[in-house]
Amino acid sequence: MKRNHVIQAWGRILSGRRPLLSIEITRECPLRCPGCYAYEDAHLGGNVNLRSLSDFKGDELVERVLALLDELRPLHLSIVGGDPLVRYREVEKLLPRIFERGIAVQLVTSAFRELPAEWPSMMPMLDIVVSIDGLQPEHDARRKPATYERILKNIVGQQITVHCTITGQMLAGLNSIEAFLAFWQGIPDARRVWFSLFTPQRGAVGPEILTPQQRQYAVSELLRLRPFYSKLDMSEGTIREYLNPPQSPAECIFAQSTCTISADLKTRIQPCQFGGNPDCSQCGCIASMGLAGLGHKRLVNVELGSIMRASTAVGRVVEGLRRGV
Ligand code: SF4
Ligand code: SF4
Repeated sequence: MKRNHVIQAWGRILSGRRPLLSIEITRECPLRCPGCYAYEDAHLGGNVNLRSLSDFKGDELVERVLALLDELRPLHLSIVGGDPLVRYREVEKLLPRIFERGIAVQLVTSAFRELPAEWPSMMPMLDIVVSIDGLQPEHDARRKPATYERILKNIVGQQITVHCTITGQMLAGLNSIEAFLAFWQGIPDARRVWFSLFTPQRGAVGPEILTPQQRQYAVSELLRLRPFYSKLDMSEGTIREYLNPPQSPAECIFAQSTCTISADLKTRIQPCQFGGNPDCSQCGCIASMGLAGLGHKRLVNVELGSIMRASTAVGRVVEGLRRGV
């Protein structure tokens, strides 16, 4: 994040707005990944599951998303799902109109279908993030029909960001992080690789969840591999944050700076994109760690995180005044 981005974001927070917006643009996804938080019953915080939420299609979806952007005026938009490629026609119409507003977009997909040929020309305003969970045997078992074979065909000519969520199962394999990096380092259509760690809900159990020893191991592996794999695009500071995640949503700069809205374009997902009751002490979200690392930097000898938290409190008052509450 550049200095002027921080200042712009700070201005948004002080005016009671959140600089980052994430929209679950559709409730539909052809995959059924184990450990997917989007379809957990607790995700939306009520009695409704994402699959049963009403969503939009066609021009109505395009116009409603643009109206939301004009209301919330974010600096950055994440388009997630479900899988946004289910609505690729609408996304193709939306992108130029979002860029006209000066808003950069990150689109997160499983790449189950071919990515449009013109998308690489939209960089750097458009960043395509493809979720890939480990090497082929494990990934294909978890994420069929978005298999390795299909992804490699569908990303030809693109410059994707590969995003891997490390699970307990992945770490059962020998040198699996390095093997994953070595594979994607050699794929010309991938420009960088990011790793998150699986984030559970409070009290959850399951094979995806890392033990404290596995978390420590994943961090030491990422630190060890950084110098050897140019596509591993994570700073040392961000990687180290995984050992000391924010202890609550109130401490999480990412949660405090991001508004996440579900497929009915109304329901707000709280306290962060995971919804429900996530276990912050085991958070493995790369965005949360990246902003936590930024928050530990100092400005006039005060941590940026403290300034952001104080600004959020000011922003809430300003938002209340604006809405007349
Ligand atoms: S692709 Fe994403 S939204 Fe779809 S089931 Fe998998 S994790 Fe969930
Ligand atoms: S992103 Fe992580 S640390 Fe932040 S609120 Fe969500 S679970 Fe907690």
